[in-house]
Amino acid sequence: MTEITLFEAQCAHCRRHFAHPDLGDFVYGEILLCTRDGQHHARVSAFTPFSKRVEALMSPNDDRSLWSILASLADPVSGVPLTFGLRCPHCASGQMVYWGGKRAGVIDVPEATFTDAAALSDEELGRRVAAVERNGLPS
Ligand SMILES: [Zn+2]
Repeated sequence: MTEITLFEAQCAHCRRHFAHPDLGDFVYGEILLCTRDGQHHARVSAFTPFSKRVEALMSPNDDRSLWSILASLADPVSGVPLTFGLRCPHCASGQMVYWGGKRAGVIDVPEATFTDAAALSDEELGRRVAAVERNGLPS
């Protein structure tokens, strides 16, 4: 667990305000994933052994899909899959009026886990990586 600063955001769909954790601009090679229902966050680093394994299976000319691929491979939190990007915790919309607004406290954010994906063979993991490179994340 690491304490992450919360910032205010407003959902463009239901117009409600909520607080979301944000790493800011100073954390290199690390991002926050969000469950598709907006209820939970998890941090993920590009430098873990598993992230390195995934990167080695990616197409050589693909320099933008790593976070989406890691989101698709992460273990669900409370049964809900993770996605790359912000989701409204009230209506699950990904459209925001604004985000990164006023500071709103801090929250402990756990690291994402990859228990199921890490147990896959390189061949099967490679297929999962290629599917996200081809089709993006399921919504
Ligand atoms: Zn909403």
